[in-house]
Amino acid sequence: MNSPLSRRQMLAASAGIATAATLHGRAARAGGAVVISSKNGLRCVQEAYRRVTGGERPVRAAVMGVAINEDDPEDMSVGYGGLPNEEGVVQLDAACMDGPSANAGAVAAIENIKNPAQVAFFVMEHTDHVLLVGEGAKRFARSYGFPEQDLLTDKARAIWLRWRAARSRNDDWLSPADGSDLELDAQGRLYGTIHCSVLAPNGDLGCATTTSGLSFKIPGRVGDSPLIGCGLYCDNDVGSAGATGRGEASILSGVSWLVVERMRAGDEPTQACLHALRRVSEYARRQSRWQPALWAGDRPSFDLTLYALRKDGQFGCASLRAGKDERVFAVCDAQGARHETGALLYPN
Ligand code: ASP
Repeated sequence: MNSPLSRRQMLAASAGIATAATLHGRAARAGGAVVISSKNGLRCVQEAYRRVTGGERPVRAAVMGVAINEDDPEDMSVGYGGLPNEEGVVQLDAACMDGPSANAGAVAAIENIKNPAQVAFFVMEHTDHVLLVGEGAKRFARSYGFPEQDLLTDKARAIWLRWRAARSRNDDWLSPADGSDLELDAQGRLYGTIHCSVLAPNGDLGCATTTSGLSFKIPGRVGDSPLIGCGLYCDNDVGSAGATGRGEASILSGVSWLVVERMRAGDEPTQACLHALRRVSEYARRQSRWQPALWAGDRPSFDLTLYALRKDGQFGCASLRAGKDERVFAVCDAQGARHETGALLYPN
């Protein structure tokens, strides 16, 4: 991460000067950094806040903040220790976006590299591309010295084996005697990801999202996390946004782009998240004619949580429904790191 100042970084610096003063007529920010993330990011927001108040670019602060979760074997939704695909292979997705330069980098379905958000940062900084996938992404990472390692922990392997044994009475795997104790969603999957959005004291924005994706996915499945405008998006004039939860729904509605555009149009961050969730809900209702499992009663059967941080320091979060890990999000500002409670599109 200690690369010399690149052409892109110089462009980023000048873009920051040009845009910091404009927020569509709103008063300039009083100052002060703000970092938000998904619920699992309490240490992430603290680290990103420490870095951005120490002068680091917000995108880099976000990437290094989420590295805490990527490195943590107990976070089974991200990086090392993440739950594998249906063949027992951990495939990771990640992206980062830099407000001042309006540039982004991403990797998808990358294997054996623990910190995909940092690889995404290198894609952004050192190439003219935005997204590298699979074997090419891994070779790119290796060329910058990222070590290869087995990311499947014993704990994640045990959960995967249990899932494989329990998934069908009609396959050749013997079912576990005591049934499955996994807390699965209506589609029988586990979700989990970390998104982090960072506002610097000078008003610059950056964000990162990193995940092992949908558990037990079909090999090669790419979720929303590495897709710009879906799992994350930021515009240095407006704000930053991200998503966790059912990636397919996030992709189909372009939720992070939509949240930022709603904030550009004047929505409060929470309102912007709720607006995008209404779109997700409407699309899920239409899709449920072909995929009935996507709909339960009067609402989507799955969860999606959106996070929004506006350039003036206002922030918000909203979820479709109150799932186990949804609705609560992490924040760090001058008052310190804490969890806050977001809004729900379907409160009861
Ligand atoms: N959005 C991620 C994906 O679909 C998973 C998650 O956030 O839980 O890959």
